[in-house]
Amino acid sequence: MTAQIIDGKALAEELRQSFKARVEALAAKGHRPGLVVILVGEDPASEVYVRNKVNGCLAIGMHSEKIVYSKDVDQQVVLDKIAELNADENIHGILVQLPLPRHFDEEKVLEAIAVDKDVDGFHAENVGALAQGNPRFIPCTPYGVMKMFEKGNVDLTGQEAVVIGRSNIVGKPMALLLINAGATVTVCNSRTRDLKFHTRRADILVAAVGKPKFVTGDMIKPGAVVIDVGINRLQDGPDAGKLCGDVDFASCLETAGQITPVPGGVGPMTITMLLANTIEAAERKAGR
Ligand code: NAP
Repeated sequence: MTAQIIDGKALAEELRQSFKARVEALAAKGHRPGLVVILVGEDPASEVYVRNKVNGCLAIGMHSEKIVYSKDVDQQVVLDKIAELNADENIHGILVQLPLPRHFDEEKVLEAIAVDKDVDGFHAENVGALAQGNPRFIPCTPYGVMKMFEKGNVDLTGQEAVVIGRSNIVGKPMALLLINAGATVTVCNSRTRDLKFHTRRADILVAAVGKPKFVTGDMIKPGAVVIDVGINRLQDGPDAGKLCGDVDFASCLETAGQITPVPGGVGPMTITMLLANTIEAAERKAGR
């Protein structure tokens, strides 16, 4: 049987449409949700992500702006700007695009963002709140994945969930969300012995590895829900230049129960949940 495809693009669009009324209600009360994205350096991929974030906000009536610094800017300049934005009544979300140049102390920069404006959810205090099962902001990519489970009517309780990848951005918060949802969670990394042993018993498999077509059909359990977080640009072959995920979609399609495509899967959900977090921040500020 062919797997059901979880269409992230359609779900993202549905959610974004539903956000418009919330944005307008806030704007009518003088609290138009506002997001500032800070970009340091000229990384082309980061520039695309930042543009999409800003445009995603503007398209649903939010305020958004980007602040761009050259790659050799002094860290203190960025910290001062964050302090200014923390105090700005019109800004509800502040996001620093990662990765930062080498001379930056990433942790220090992320910790400088006010916890109630940390819409990426990367501040240590917000990570702690998530770990305790009482999140203030859920990191956008795993948050998007949870919405996809919801849309696909996936009951996570008691399920064997395997996450490949343990990054602070995806793997770890994903694992915490699955734990909070009552799944039995295994987190794999590059040192995991016999990865296939784990993936083959997963009812829910989340791949956040950063390696094109890494998960193949023989690695998954029949009927599994397979979530592909990866975004990789193919370097060579006939599809050079095209995007592909961490999952070999073609070989998993026949075995999986549900699967997300790349592009059009988790990617569009990430920015959507950034909008959701910023609206949520503005609603809290407005006292609902
Ligand atoms: P990352 O920081 O590079 O982490 C990759 C993880 O994969 C690491 O924990 C690494 O293990 C693990 N890994 C690498 N090789 C492995 C192997 N052979 N077996 C098992 N585990 C292995 O990457 P990330 O930031 O989490 O991103 C992962 C992917 O998601 C990338 O393709 C990225 O572009 C994509 N992404 C997509 C979105 C979206 O919006 N859809 C958002 C963020 C990221 P170690 O820790 O042992 O090194």
